[in-house]
Amino acid sequence: MKTYGTRRSRWSDPYRIKRKKTSILSGKNLLGLGLGLGILALGFTVLPRLNSTISRPFKSANIPTAGDGLTSVFNQWSDADSWFIISIPSRFQGQVIYGNNWAKSDKVIALTFDDGPWGTQTEEVLNILEQNNIKATFFWIGQALQMYPETARKVVAAGHAIGNHTVNHRYHRMSPTEAAQEVDDTAKMIYDITGMKTMLFRPPGGVLNNGVADYAKKQGYGIVMWSQIAPDSNPQPPAEVIAETVLKDATPGGIVLLHDGGGDHRTTVAALPKIIEGLRQQGYEFVTVPQLLELQGQD
Ligand SMILES: [Zn+2]
Repeated sequence: MKTYGTRRSRWSDPYRIKRKKTSILSGKNLLGLGLGLGILALGFTVLPRLNSTISRPFKSANIPTAGDGLTSVFNQWSDADSWFIISIPSRFQGQVIYGNNWAKSDKVIALTFDDGPWGTQTEEVLNILEQNNIKATFFWIGQALQMYPETARKVVAAGHAIGNHTVNHRYHRMSPTEAAQEVDDTAKMIYDITGMKTMLFRPPGGVLNNGVADYAKKQGYGIVMWSQIAPDSNPQPPAEVIAETVLKDATPGGIVLLHDGGGDHRTTVAALPKIIEGLRQQGYEFVTVPQLLELQGQD
């Protein structure tokens, strides 16, 4: 089994944060310069923590080129030169990703949590992940972001990857205008609350044909589905059953769908330590979705 501890540099950036080095030196923002130099010294992993301590991200992040897909959306915001972006390799932009097409030897798996942030329930998940030194990926709903902005900031501060899961979690057929609002308004909320931007999108219910995924594709998001789903939605089975199902169905390169928000998911929280322990016993290493895609994109 490979261990990633010896490859720390490869795994130190769960976000694949893109940064524009020249803008650190642009003189626009001395705070940005100071923080930028500090982060160069300390490494990327502390970057979200610093970000959480200031009201705005410093102005050192990258502005994507036209090929990066999301330029048109993100540049419509007045301070588009001051952000961090959770990016994905270009070959996955605008693509639907299932995590079931793994041709690598690495035995990795990505835990994903949907429908939060959700207050103390999410914070319990964060504690378990921290105790186990694992980075995961959280797909947020705009409505939940409005309820739990502090929790959102804690997720980002802990260094997890985040994705867009629309404002209202609707399944119905949407007009182009409504689809755009569902995606763009959530992106704006994520940015306003955390200073982050993300190229990850997960359609509510995995619905790919109601207009919202098509809009996100056109914007260049990676449409992140899953390779296995924990049976943790209503009615929720006991934690042992959730854990056993995840462990039974796990595959290398997989994306596991769990829930930390959208309702009572105490059984998911209770199952999580068993899931982590069992997957580790099977030889799995945990990665974020951007890390998974980066690995998959390597020849
Ligand atoms: Zn959902």
